[in-house]
Amino acid sequence: MKQVRMQVRDLTFSYGGEMAADHISFDVHKGQFVGLIGPNGSGKSTVLKNIYRALKPDGGSIVLDGEDLLRMSYRKSALKLAVVGQENEVPFDFTVEEIVAMGRSPHKRLFDIENSRDKFIVRHALEHLGMEDMAKRSYLHLSGGEKQRAIIARAVAQESDFFVLDEPTNHLDISYQMQIFDFIQRLNITVLAAIHDLNLAALYCDYIYVLKDGRILLSGKPEEVFTPENIYDVYGVRSSVERHPITGKVGITFLPAGIIRARAS
Ligand code: ADP
Ligand code: MG
Repeated sequence: MKQVRMQVRDLTFSYGGEMAADHISFDVHKGQFVGLIGPNGSGKSTVLKNIYRALKPDGGSIVLDGEDLLRMSYRKSALKLAVVGQENEVPFDFTVEEIVAMGRSPHKRLFDIENSRDKFIVRHALEHLGMEDMAKRSYLHLSGGEKQRAIIARAVAQESDFFVLDEPTNHLDISYQMQIFDFIQRLNITVLAAIHDLNLAALYCDYIYVLKDGRILLSGKPEEVFTPENIYDVYGVRSSVERHPITGKVGITFLPAGIIRARAS
């Protein structure tokens, strides 16, 4: 039996009106790459924000490594969880290296200065993301893909073994999408990620939870969850699902309505 890192039980949250997270329960096991998928507005970001403590749950519990996450000090939760959001705008004109060095802050006390170990870790994180040549560049002037790599490098510098990712590759082209997921996979850590692209989720996730209207509708391995019937139930789109001979993973092809009509007639 694999060790459970995170247990979410009956998590509820509303922004005032309808419940954006309605009794959400799930587990994340050690070393697992867990995907949260679901249509726009289904509650993925809300669930993640409650986990990384940008929002406070109305009810339910979140246990991380046997401890109540909601009672943990912010510093301790920041040591345990590294968070990469959808858009990571930072104020002021920091260099890439400075942004990555911010990953060290949960390890430091106020007024601690960066020591040689911090410098080594920052350099290593930059190298891991292939960004050592960009260390002195301004973060604000990077492309979207480079910014996201810098933010992942910051998460690496944080030395957490649990990443929480909210659609980390949104707006990026396919080469950066693959590159970022490949980097994360190579870290061999525990991952909880909202992923909006079903094929990417099928390629990288070990386990999937499908959200709709703030509830978990389905869960299972990608090949269990991604069936044409389920995809139609959740997204209202027809698809064909095949196991790919090279990846061994399921691949989803979406079928335009025009083609379905032509085949039916
Ligand atoms: P997802 O990340 O799956 O697209 P969200 O968690 O962002 O979904 O949104 C879930 C629901 O909560 C949606 O109906 C959305 O409109 C609503 N919502 C999200 N953020 C806010 C907010 N700051 N204020 C009010 N409603 C919000
Ligand atoms: Mg979202």
